[in-house]
Amino acid sequence: MTRPTRFEHHQYLGDKRSQVVHDLDAAVDACAIDDLMAAETFASFGPDALPEARNRGYRPCRHCISGA
Ligand SMILES: [Zn+2]
Repeated sequence: MTRPTRFEHHQYLGDKRSQVVHDLDAAVDACAIDDLMAAETFASFGPDALPEARNRGYRPCRHCISGA
């Protein structure tokens, strides 16, 4: 898939609806990143890291984050 332009400098992208975080370097069609961008219910993290996403209550996506 194509990385969303506005997230080209981010690795992790959160879905505010489902509280799931995706790894854009490993995202697959099942992640529905395009739908997420269209709905504009996404979140980025600072720092751009999985522990930060977890701290904010996001669960790792089972499709694109290993060990989820
Ligand atoms: Zn995913």
